[in-house]
Amino acid sequence: MVKCPKCGGNVESPIKTWRFSSRKTAKTGEKSKIIMGIFECPSCKARFRAALEPDTAPEERVSIKNMVERIKGIRGELMQTLKNLREKIKTLETERANLMIEIEKLRKVAESRVVALESEVSMLREEVKSLRELLGYTEDLEK
Ligand SMILES: [Zn+2]
Repeated sequence: MVKCPKCGGNVESPIKTWRFSSRKTAKTGEKSKIIMGIFECPSCKARFRAALEPDTAPEERVSIKNMVERIKGIRGELMQTLKNLREKIKTLETERANLMIEIEKLRKVAESRVVALESEVSMLREEVKSLRELLGYTEDLEK
């Protein structure tokens, strides 16, 4: 709260605020920043600039007031996120189990195909062998 320089009336809160580092604090090496504000007197409508006390800056007050609400909100969001993640994990685990079953099925199909091909190849080998014998070819002749 500041006093109007024109009529001396109390002005509750500024229309606009901004921060800047003052030269004084810069010289002493402090990093504290001064908050400036533009005020409008409600009784005489005069506009003026004034520095705000850091602890009474509405910006700060609002942020402290909202802090609890924000923490509550963040906690709520986290709980929701955890819930969503748990559901996602559950879905993914089910999907993984289904995929494992499918992979197992495909593996069995592939294995039986290999077995079928192997027996076909050995049958063809036998056929080639008997044809060679029929035509009088021997393993030695071929070499
Ligand atoms: Zn005034």
